Amino acid sequence: MVNSQAAGGGCPSRACAGCGGRISDRFLLFSMERYWHTRCLKCSCCQAQLGEIGTTCYSKAGMILCRNDYIRLFGHTGACNACGQSIPASEMVMKAQGNVYHLKCFSCATCRHRLVPGDRFHYINGTIFCEHDRPGGTPIGSHLQGNPVLPDQKVC
Ligand SMILES: [Zn+2]
Ligand SMILES: [Zn+2]
Ligand SMILES: [Zn+2]
Ligand SMILES: [Zn+2]
Repeated sequence: MVNSQAAGGGCPSRACAGCGGRISDRFLLFSMERYWHTRCLKCSCCQAQLGEIGTTCYSKAGMILCRNDYIRLFGHTGACNACGQSIPASEMVMKAQGNVYHLKCFSCATCRHRLVPGDRFHYINGTIFCEHDRPGGTPIGSHLQGNPVLPDQKVC
C-alpha cells in the first residue's frame, strides 16, 4: 500500500540540509524540497536568515537567495526608463542598452507604436524610435555624417 505518511506515532527525524543536524518540528522549514533549521536557511549572498524574514526565498544556480539578492543577480527589475516606475521581477521587460522598460512603455517616441520582441528599433540618446521614425529619416546604410545613431538593434 502506498501512503505518504509514516504510519503510527513515530516522528520521522529530519536532517537539516544546511548543517546536517536533526530538526525538531518546531523549527522546521521546508524549502527547496529539503528541510532546514530556521537559522540554517540563509541567503548565499548576504547571509540573511530567510526563515526569520519569513518571506519567499529563491533557489538558483545552486544558491539560496533572499528576494533582494535574487533580483539583484537574476532579476531584471529596476525603474522603467520610460515611465520611471519600478518593474517587478516577475514582469517581462524590454531591454535596450542596459536600460529596462515595461513592455507597454517600450514604444516609439514619435508614433507611440509599441515595439515587440523581433521588431527592429533605434535607440538614440535614451529614446526609442521605430524603424520608420528614425530621426533624420536617413535610410539605413546611407552615409551618416557624425550622427550619433547607433546601428540597428534587435529586441531580444
Ligand atoms: Zn541546520
Ligand atoms: Zn540576500
Ligand atoms: Zn514603464
Ligand atoms: Zn514610430
